[in-house]
Amino acid sequence: MIDLSDRFCGALLGTHVGDALGMPVEGASHVSIRTHYGQLREMLEARMGVGTYTDDTEMMIALAESLVQKGGFDGEDLARSFLENFNYQRGYGAGTRRALELIRSGVNWWEAGAKVFQGGSYGNGSAMRVAPVGCLYHHDLVQLREVAFESSVITHAHPLGQEGAALQASAVALAINSDPARPLDREDFLSTLLGQVSPGSPFREKLEAVAELLQKEKKPPVEEVLDRLGNDSRALCSVPPAIYSFLSHSEDFEEALVFSVGLGGDTDTIGAMTGAIAGAYRGKGSIPLRWLHALERGRKGADYIEELAIELLKIHNKIISGR
Ligand SMILES: [Mg+2]
Repeated sequence: MIDLSDRFCGALLGTHVGDALGMPVEGASHVSIRTHYGQLREMLEARMGVGTYTDDTEMMIALAESLVQKGGFDGEDLARSFLENFNYQRGYGAGTRRALELIRSGVNWWEAGAKVFQGGSYGNGSAMRVAPVGCLYHHDLVQLREVAFESSVITHAHPLGQEGAALQASAVALAINSDPARPLDREDFLSTLLGQVSPGSPFREKLEAVAELLQKEKKPPVEEVLDRLGNDSRALCSVPPAIYSFLSHSEDFEEALVFSVGLGGDTDTIGAMTGAIAGAYRGKGSIPLRWLHALERGRKGADYIEELAIELLKIHNKIISGR
């Protein structure tokens, strides 16, 4: 019997933990992180203090709140929730700030994202926050994909931004649907993920690269992982390395997260996404206590995130019973 409350809490708190571990080294190369810290295993002093979160977790909170309040996806309400939670000190990307400004000035939620950059943003901003969608719709990958796409449009309307959000949400869902007491069938996990990706999408090639890296007899060097998968803020170059970080260390939440942050680059987001998948797989109980204790505890801190996860589970149960 799967303890869904532990998995939902793991996915949401995993986002916070990965975000907080990765943020202090955001933008650093993997060589620089290795030189300074060896392996980064402890929460460091950060912009807003040790264990604090950034835009990744703040937007995840906004998404979970809206899903809970509306009993599912409601674009207008989600845009409102993003605006209400917005705190510029959390380090939002330029495109997201612009989209939210447009919505504040009266542009429709489904139009604002497309007005940012040409054809919308293909950054990872809608994938980093998507864990609540992965939790709520883990029983229905078709609906999950639709909701992930729609939740992305508000700030990241480019097909690659939307596809990245759907892929990350799917990975969280598959992690919830897998039994951590048995060895993870990584090939099966990846082939189900492939089935979630649009035909012709460059994400397919990336997932094939993940499979090839996993099949190697010896764990490939970090340079090779970066060369094949990337580590920057494009969804295409951050969702796949998060999936690889999880699949290459699925037996241990801490090792998956340490590896993901050690890749360098967009560390808070790659950490947040890896934490979401690994937490969804092994549950809150797999997150090291010293990390959980370091998380921020303000009005919308770790305790609140856990409450949101429980509320999200109630909505999930309602959706299931209404089918
Ligand atoms: Mg961030």
